[in-house]
Amino acid sequence: MSHKEIIKQILSDGRWHCIQSIIIETGHSARNRISEMNIASEKANGKLAIEGAPCDIEGHSHKANLFKYRNAQHDEKEYYLQTFDELIGESIT
Ligand SMILES: [Zn+2]
Repeated sequence: MSHKEIIKQILSDGRWHCIQSIIIETGHSARNRISEMNIASEKANGKLAIEGAPCDIEGHSHKANLFKYRNAQHDEKEYYLQTFDELIGESIT
């Protein structure tokens, strides 16, 4: 499995992952890979594949300004499913 595929797999649950845990799991710095994946994804469908934010995960207190990352398209999928459920709910009542 390539480094990119490992990162993808880690982020596939849609939850935020601290860069530190990504580095521990992959053994490499992930920042460059993540920006490469975003550049490729933006070229392919105009959307970022991965979103980042300063890490504020509970229990993490980094001295350095570390980022957390998640699959940017995961929420969107959930949003559509939710809308779909609401539509079905409306048609039943
Ligand atoms: Zn963190």
